[in-house]
Amino acid sequence: MAPTPIYRPPQQIMPEHDSLRRFIFEQLPVQGRHVHLDASWQAVLERQHYPVPVRSLLGQAMAATALMSATLKFDGVVTLQIRGNGPVHLLVVQCTSRMILRGLARWHGELPGADLGSLLADGRLAITIEPSKGERYQGIVPLEGETLAACLESYFLRSEQLPTRMWLTADNECAAGMLLQMMPARQKDPDAWQHVTLLADTLNQEELKMLSAQPLLQRLYHEDDVRLFEATPVAFRCQCSRARIEVTLRSLGADELQGILVEQGGVHVDCEFCGRGYDFDKVDVKALLSVNSLVHTTDSRH
Ligand SMILES: [Zn+2]
Repeated sequence: MAPTPIYRPPQQIMPEHDSLRRFIFEQLPVQGRHVHLDASWQAVLERQHYPVPVRSLLGQAMAATALMSATLKFDGVVTLQIRGNGPVHLLVVQCTSRMILRGLARWHGELPGADLGSLLADGRLAITIEPSKGERYQGIVPLEGETLAACLESYFLRSEQLPTRMWLTADNECAAGMLLQMMPARQKDPDAWQHVTLLADTLNQEELKMLSAQPLLQRLYHEDDVRLFEATPVAFRCQCSRARIEVTLRSLGADELQGILVEQGGVHVDCEFCGRGYDFDKVDVKALLSVNSLVHTTDSRH
């Protein structure tokens, strides 16, 4: 029997899964990034059931953090952290410059609405950039915009970086986004910036979700000369380890750890990002406390 032919839809109309692509305008001092998260986003959703507004915010934050990490010129990690006084009190996303991503959100009670103001109430957005070598940088802005993209744009404005805009979207299938940024060094060109951003503002959520970088840029900038670079794969992976959990436990101090041992017979820690469990019995705790003085140089990130 002849094998059934497999229908393959044309590549350019299918979103490229879990990939990030950089592009530049040949004649304009503007560059951009496009990201589409699929399995990497599903990996986050498998670990926690999120109410729709929280899911949407977290997915947009994942896309945004991937886009920001892709603008790093060095090896490092970008952490986007939101703390609020509303039902969503914590949201953390991390992405390395090698496009390894993880994220989580914490909320409690009923969600009064889907808008940022009611979800986060006086929220603060912190962006931390940690190069693998060199100084760590942190910028904090109040969450005043109506969308996460607007808040991030005000972060870029306040941190005196280059004019930057983002378009973000997320649902239960995928998270996607596009970033445009003025190029450094070259002369400022406000007309070019207005031209590319006005066209990008015509993008709708559906197009952002459904289109790969190539047809999306074709749809927006068919009159401009845009060069699109090779795709970089993006993946979900947690960098937690027993060693990093031990550093966190040591920071609790001996009294606190002894208290937990007496109460629970052992110490159990679940990584919030990936759900992996770590167990420490009395002997383990004694051992990790006894090397307390030797750990100053250990990486405290977990
Ligand atoms: Zn983990």
